[in-house]
Amino acid sequence: MARQARQRYQCYVEGLDERHLRQLTLVRDLQDAARQQQLSMVYQPQLDARTGRLIGVEALMRWQHPTLGFIPPDEFIELAERSGNIQRLTGWMLDSVCAQLQRWNIEGHGLSAAVNLSARDVNDDTLPERINDCLASHGLTPDRLRLEITESAIMHDPDHASRQLATLRRAGLSIAVDDFGTGYSSLAQLKRLPVQELKIDKSFILKLDESADDEIIVRSTIELGHNLGLAVVAEGVETESSRALLAGLGCDILQGYLFSRPLPADQLILWAQAHSHI
Ligand code: C2E
Ligand code: CA
Ligand code: CA
Ligand code: CA
Repeated sequence: MARQARQRYQCYVEGLDERHLRQLTLVRDLQDAARQQQLSMVYQPQLDARTGRLIGVEALMRWQHPTLGFIPPDEFIELAERSGNIQRLTGWMLDSVCAQLQRWNIEGHGLSAAVNLSARDVNDDTLPERINDCLASHGLTPDRLRLEITESAIMHDPDHASRQLATLRRAGLSIAVDDFGTGYSSLAQLKRLPVQELKIDKSFILKLDESADDEIIVRSTIELGHNLGLAVVAEGVETESSRALLAGLGCDILQGYLFSRPLPADQLILWAQAHSHI
C-alpha cells in the first residue's frame, strides 16, 4: 500500500473506533442516566398561525452526560432504539411530561404537550395502556397529550401502525405525522391513517423565504393536509418572512426559534407570561 493510502486507511480505522467507543459508552451510560438525573425535558411553544395564540408545547428530551457533555437527542434516541433501551426511555419521558402537566394544572396552566414516539414504541402493543396509566396516575385527561410519530416510523409497518394509532385515537389521544415529507408515504396510506395533524419537516421550512422549490413543496403539503381534513404544523420557523409566508399559505400551527427555543418548564412559563399567552 502506498504510504499516503495507508495513512488514510489508518485514519479511517481510528475514526471508526472512536465513534464505536463513544457509542458503546453512551449505550452503557444511558441505562443509568435517568436515575442519575442527567435527563431532562424542555418545552417549545406551538402557536396558532392566524391568531398567534399559544396552542401547546412540544416536549423534547435532553441528556447532559457527566464527562461527554450535551448529547444531541438525534444521537442517543437512535442508540436507545438500536440497543433495545427505548421503551424505558419513553416510559421515563411520559412520566416526566405527565408530572409536569400535572404541576402546570395545579398552577392553573391547562397546557397540552406533544411527545415524540419512536418506531419501536409504535410497534409496542402495551403502549396505549402505558400511556393511559400514566395519564390516569397524574389525573390528566387524554386531550392533554398529543403524539408525534414520524412518517418513517409509521411506514415501517403501516398496517400495524394503523391499528395501533386507531387504538390510541379511540383512547382520546390526537396524533401527528412528524417529519412529514422525508418518508415515502403514499396518498392512499395517508388517507387511511387515523391522524389529525401533518407536521412538515423543518428541512422544508428553514430556507422557505429563499427557496422557490421549498415554497412549492410546502404549499402543496398544506393543500394536501387540508384536503384530507388535517391540521398542518410547520416546525423550524426562524424568520418573520417565513412566518408571514406560512400564515399566508394557510398553515395552521407554527413552531420555531422565531418564537422561542425549547425551554425548561419554569422558563417556558416565564416566556408565556412575558408574551401575554397566560
Ligand atoms: P423533531 O421531533 O423533528 O423535533 C424538532 C427539532 O427541531 C428539535 O430538535 C427542536 O429543538 C428543533 N427546532 C425547533 N425549532 C427550530 C428552529 O427554528 N430551527 C432549528 N434549526 N431547529 C429547530 P432536538 O430537540 O435536537 O430534537 C431532535 C430530534 O430528537 C427530534 O426531532 C426527535 O426526533 C428526537 N427527540 C427529541 N426528544 C425526544 C423524545 O423524548 N423521544 C423521542 N422518541 N425522540 C425525541
Ligand atoms: Ca417532533
Ligand atoms: Ca423534524
Ligand atoms: Ca425527527
